[in-house]
Amino acid sequence: MTTATIAPPKITDKKMLIDGCWIDSASGKTFETINPATGDTICHVAEADKSDVDMAVAAARRAFDSGPWSKMNPADRGRLLYKLADAIEADADNLAALETLDNGKPIRDSKAVDVPLTIACYRYYAGWADKIHGKVLPISGDFHAYTRHEPVGVVGQIIPWNFPLLMQSWKWGPALAAGCTVVLKPAEQTPLTALRVAELAMEVGFPEGVVNVVPGFGPSAGGAIAAHPDVDKVAFTGSTEVGKLIMKAAAETNLKRVTLELGGKSPNIIFADADVEKAAQFAHFALFFNMGQCCCAGSRLYVEERIHDEALDHITRLAEKARVGDPLDPETTQGPQVSEEQYNTILGYIDAGKKGGATCVTGGGKIDRPGYFVQPTVFDDVQDDMKIAREEIFGPVLSVLKFRDVDEVIRRANDTMYGLAAAVWTKDITKANLLARRLRAGTVWINCYNVFDATVPFGGFKMSGLGRELGEYALSNYTEVKSVVTALGA
Ligand code: ADP
Repeated sequence: MTTATIAPPKITDKKMLIDGCWIDSASGKTFETINPATGDTICHVAEADKSDVDMAVAAARRAFDSGPWSKMNPADRGRLLYKLADAIEADADNLAALETLDNGKPIRDSKAVDVPLTIACYRYYAGWADKIHGKVLPISGDFHAYTRHEPVGVVGQIIPWNFPLLMQSWKWGPALAAGCTVVLKPAEQTPLTALRVAELAMEVGFPEGVVNVVPGFGPSAGGAIAAHPDVDKVAFTGSTEVGKLIMKAAAETNLKRVTLELGGKSPNIIFADADVEKAAQFAHFALFFNMGQCCCAGSRLYVEERIHDEALDHITRLAEKARVGDPLDPETTQGPQVSEEQYNTILGYIDAGKKGGATCVTGGGKIDRPGYFVQPTVFDDVQDDMKIAREEIFGPVLSVLKFRDVDEVIRRANDTMYGLAAAVWTKDITKANLLARRLRAGTVWINCYNVFDATVPFGGFKMSGLGRELGEYALSNYTEVKSVVTALGA
C-alpha cells in the first residue's frame, strides 16, 4: 500500500521567545529558513544577536533566582515535563512534517524516530525531577555532613540542525528536571521545531523565563551565549571546531561549565564470522541514515578481507536501492542534505575520494533536481590516510576499508582524533567484548548500530566531546554538588 505525500504545513513568519513573550529581534532583523528539498524560503525568522541574548539571559536569571521556578516543587517540575511530552505527542504529525520541511529528513524517519524519541526523552527526565538528591556522608568527628545536588543555574544551549527536535529534548529534559532555566539557540538552518516546542511549553504552563528560544547565527547569537558572564553553563552539540570556540569563550569569561557533543569518524567493524548480510544492512543504516548527517555515522567500514567482496556486494545493492526524493513522500528513504553549504562540502569530499585513489563503486555525484540531493555513494579500496577516511564528511558517503586481524583493526580504528562511537559485528562473544574494551569511543554497539534510548548515556572520548548526555549521567551536567557540614558538638 502506498501512502500519499504529506501536504507541507502552512508556515507563518516566526518571532523569538523571551520571558514568555513572542517578540521581534531588537535589531528588527530576520533570516530565511530554507526548504532543502527545493531551495525555496519557508518563512522568515526573528534573528537574535547579543542584545536579544542579553534579554533572554536576564529573563532566565530572574526565573531561576526569584521566579516561580525557583520555588516550584520538583514533582511539579516533573509534571510540567510530562505535560510537554503529552503536548508533543498530540502535535506529533505536525511536528514531524515541520521537521521534514525544515531539515529535509524523510517523513518516515521524523515520524518513526525523531518524534517518538523526543517524547520518550521528556518523559524519562520528567520522572527524574523529584529523584535528584544528595547523600548523607560518613564524616569523621562530631559532625553531620550531607550533599545537595542543586541546579547549576542559567544554562545556554546551542544545538545543531541534524536532529533539531531530538537535540532540544536531550538539552531541555535534564536541564529542566534539575531545576535550571534555559536559553536555547537552535541552528539557523532548522529553527522551526524548537519554536513550536517552545509554544507548546508555554501552552502547558511553564512559567515565564524558564525556557527562552533565540534563533540566530552561530558567531553572533551562539557566540553571545558562550561568552555571557551570567550564563552558568553552556551545553553545545555541533562541530569540533566550534566546540573549541565555545570552550575558549567559556574559559575567558566566567569559567562556565561546558559540555560538548562533537564530531566523529566512527569505525564499524565486520568480522568474517558475523552474519554478513545483516551486518551489511546495518552498515548501510549506520551511514546513510539521516543522509549521513549523524555525528555517530559509521563512516569507516572495516571489513575482514575474507568477506570483503560479499559484504561490498550487499552494501552496493542497498545504496542503489535507496529511494531518494521528496522527503514528504512516505516512501522516500533519502532526502536532501540540509543546506547548499553542506551539499557543496560533501561533493568536495567525493571529489577528494576519487582524486585520492579510492574506487567509487556507486554514486559519486549530485542528483540533477532542485534542492540539495547527493547520490548515495560507496568508496572501496579506501586507505587510512585518505582525506575521506580521516575527516567527518556528514553526508551519504561510505568508505570501505579491508583488514586482516584483531590487533590491526583495533589499532586502525583508534587511529583518529575522534572517539564518539564504534560497532563490532561478530558471533564470537570474547572478541566482541575485547573490542568493546579496547575501542576508544563513548558508545560501542555489538551486533547493532544507532541504538538510542533516553536511559543510555551518549558522548565522546577525545575530540568528540566532553561529558555525557542522556541517562542519569546527564543530570550531573546540570547540577552543582554542595557539601553541608554541621557541628554537632557544643
Ligand atoms: P555544522 O558545521 O554542522 O553546521 P556547527 O558547529 O557550525 O555545525 O553548528 C552547530 C551549532 O553551533 C549551530 O546552532 C550554530 O549556529 C552554532 N555555532 C556556529 N558557530 C558558532 C560560534 N562561533 N559560537 C557559538 N555557536 C556557534
